[in-house]
Amino acid sequence: MTKAQQKSTIPNPKRVVFCDFDGTITVEETFVGMLKHFAPELSSQLMPEMYARRLSLRSGVRQLLESIPSECYGEIVEFSRGKLMRSGLVELLDFLDAKGVDFVIVSGGLRVMVETVMGDLVDRASAIYAVELDATGPRLQVNAEFEGDTELVSKVRVMGLYEAESQVAIGDSLTDFNMALQASSVFARDRLAEYLDSQQKPYIKWDNFFDVRENLSQKWN
Ligand SMILES: [Mg+2]
Repeated sequence: MTKAQQKSTIPNPKRVVFCDFDGTITVEETFVGMLKHFAPELSSQLMPEMYARRLSLRSGVRQLLESIPSECYGEIVEFSRGKLMRSGLVELLDFLDAKGVDFVIVSGGLRVMVETVMGDLVDRASAIYAVELDATGPRLQVNAEFEGDTELVSKVRVMGLYEAESQVAIGDSLTDFNMALQASSVFARDRLAEYLDSQQKPYIKWDNFFDVRENLSQKWN
């Protein structure tokens, strides 16, 4: 293509979809469930504090993960297997592919859980950002490349890696709150919808990925 031809091309507005994993791609909160299963006592102490936003996710989630013995790593993988995904994901991915839009998974949970639940579908995401575990010591060690001030995975930092005119966020809970405040359009359900109501930030209520596809296809046509 010559320079002149490039100039005459009307640029597609760059759009990126940022999608949470636990409770968003999965029907259940698999990560919270895992933490409760492998660190029950500490979970019952720390989780209410995190939900009340008195304890940061960065500190609380790290404490919980690092209390789990490394020998549980295999059981964590097993725990994740067969967890259900919300309907319409494949159809949304097909739609985004056709539109040339990146689908980025940003999870405050574990990469190994994302990969285990999604199986081959994981390759359809442009990228996955999540917490990595090191299981070589006596207890799990957390590796979080995009740690923020209050979050173990700062979804806003991840968003900053992508230049986009339109940033779409899809989520369900507290770990999506800052990402949602930053995004140009937000699909929210459950706790995230409540947090956004309290901030009077507009959002689109969604239940499954068919809803998201339907809404985006109307918006982008
Ligand atoms: Mg979630």
